[in-house]
Amino acid sequence: MHRIGQGYDLHRLASGLPLFLGGIPLDSPVGCVAHSDGDVLLHALIDALLGACALGDIGDHFPPSDPQYRGVSSLVLLVQVLKLLKNCSVTLINLDATVFLESPKLYPYKRQIREKLADVLGLPLDRVSLKAKTMEGLGSIGHQEAIAAMVTVLLQVDEAQNPS
Ligand code: MG
Repeated sequence: MHRIGQGYDLHRLASGLPLFLGGIPLDSPVGCVAHSDGDVLLHALIDALLGACALGDIGDHFPPSDPQYRGVSSLVLLVQVLKLLKNCSVTLINLDATVFLESPKLYPYKRQIREKLADVLGLPLDRVSLKAKTMEGLGSIGHQEAIAAMVTVLLQVDEAQNPS
């Protein structure tokens, strides 16, 4: 049996803040306004993983009102979610991600981000897909006021642990 999950996240951008994607710092004059490090790619991935297991969303597990998550690396949150998934006896098969960002261009970072995700998730690189889109100068993302990401994941359920 398989389970599919989808996740989405958006953050406002502002000058002088760091910009992280998939745990990798990008060279950018703008970064995310966020309680944590504002890594929209990891936040969308976490929501996709939680969603595939019907375990709620990132805000349920890591409330922005909780001071222990202020400025936390989203990689730390992802590792906690992976432990949850292990308890649910599911295995991640692959992920497909799209980041919506006008600038900087993601091309120079794509390989590094995919390698980081593959390493943290324990997946071969050919099961970690990352795509980048601009918004052609339109809307909040097009005006470099926001960044967004969408992630889809497929999980396999360990039938021995979850007999139907
Ligand atoms: Mg977020």
